[in-house]
Amino acid sequence: MPTVMSVAICLFTADLRVRDNPVLRAALRADEVVPLFVVDDGVHASGFVTPNRAAFLADCLADLDGALRARGGRLVVRHGDVVREVVAVAEETGAGEVHLARDVSAFAQRREAGLRRLMSGRVRVHDSVHVVPAGAVTPAGRGHFAVFGPYFRRWSGVRIREPLADPDQVTVPLVRSERLPERADLAGGEPSPVLPRGGEEAARRRAEDWLGGPIVRYADLHDDLAADGTSRLSPYLHFGCLSAVELVHRARAMGGPGAEAFIRQLAWRDFHRQLLADRPGAAHDDYRPRGDRWRTDDALVAAWRQGRTGYPLVDAAMRQLAAEGWMHNRGRLVTASFLAKTLYVDWRVGAWHFLDLLVDGDVANNQLNWQWVAGTGASTRPNQVLDPLAQARRFDPRGDYVRRWIPELAPIEGAAVHRPWLLPAEVRRRLNYPDPIVDLAERRERFHRARSGG
Ligand code: FAD
Repeated sequence: MPTVMSVAICLFTADLRVRDNPVLRAALRADEVVPLFVVDDGVHASGFVTPNRAAFLADCLADLDGALRARGGRLVVRHGDVVREVVAVAEETGAGEVHLARDVSAFAQRREAGLRRLMSGRVRVHDSVHVVPAGAVTPAGRGHFAVFGPYFRRWSGVRIREPLADPDQVTVPLVRSERLPERADLAGGEPSPVLPRGGEEAARRRAEDWLGGPIVRYADLHDDLAADGTSRLSPYLHFGCLSAVELVHRARAMGGPGAEAFIRQLAWRDFHRQLLADRPGAAHDDYRPRGDRWRTDDALVAAWRQGRTGYPLVDAAMRQLAAEGWMHNRGRLVTASFLAKTLYVDWRVGAWHFLDLLVDGDVANNQLNWQWVAGTGASTRPNQVLDPLAQARRFDPRGDYVRRWIPELAPIEGAAVHRPWLLPAEVRRRLNYPDPIVDLAERRERFHRARSGG
């Protein structure tokens, strides 16, 4: 009698890697595995696949296919509705189970529910995205932590799983695959000029560089805009090219203030996810409504988007976003505060602009950080307005970050670059750089009045 081979589907979603991937590992218990990626119509229809993330995703898929081929397998690609495609592949291959990552967005929750409906009892969900999964720690009587401090204390006490051994063999049954998508297949439009390369190999190279040196100075340098002293691992974490669990283990083994500060940032990632898992509507609705009556002013929003507000720190950060599809965290805080508080424009306008460009653009991290800055989120200081000039003095004291991103201001030396309007008139005429579009003190007052119901 012929032996019956067991087949499982490993559905790759936000975990595009072979190493330390609990989803792949579990699927590999079957004799044969279908490593499946579905280019999902639903994600496309939502406008979430932008040129920058499409470019990065195409790299990730090519790299994943290469890693699977090196182990005897390959990536199977389908286009369509993810649930329907998984069911079709299960029927074609006789797969008994589908394995996928637990994830938190409304979209991911619908996907899991849809699979459970059509493949009852055969869906296996694993934690390959978070360090501490959403819901694993909760305060008494509530579904999520609303304040980071107590969350972090509980998060730090959770015993996390050990990293998994690398899979050495992946046997794929006979099954139809479409060709690997290229960037242009995933999204029209030109990506930013200086994007990082996607994929697990690139991720591991960057992680090795980071853990091998710069992490030690992270506690001192993470807010120094010119030093660029953060890991830049966010796109790799967003697409799951790296395991956050593995990063935490390695950073804990190193110890020291830099590693501890880095681990704390990874906990922020889980914090926003546990909040979104419990309140999926927070991706678009105010988490804590403040009675805002936002203003619209197309000219001001256009100046913000183009990096022409006349406030060099804001403009430098917005230009970094356009050029690299990435922005330093301090820049994100300052530019978001400028839009949502100084200009008092709806945070969703800014959040969608960020999502259009960020390679690491992530519903949980982006929307909830925007809400945090706008004061409609989990911040304990909802009405704090960041002054771009004070921020420039602290975080770009010599003006090097501004000169890097605003070439027209590059000839100005030192901190004078932050206040070009104070330069002599004949110098200013040559700059082709705008005067400030708003008065900061007047706008701050207007915001506070609005928030106090005036
Ligand atoms: P590092 O400083 O090296 O931190 C390591 C990792 O920790 C990051 O890669 C990231 O995964 C996580 N992390 C760090 N800070 C935060 C934070 N505040 N919240 C959640 N996770 C964090 N991060 C995204 O990944 N995607 C987004 O779409 C996103 N949008 C943001 C929008 C605004 C308005 C703000 C203020 C922050 C946003 N962040 C977002 C968080 C943060 O700015 C980025 O994660 C960070 O700048 C990425 O750079 P890095 O990898 O060098 O970070």
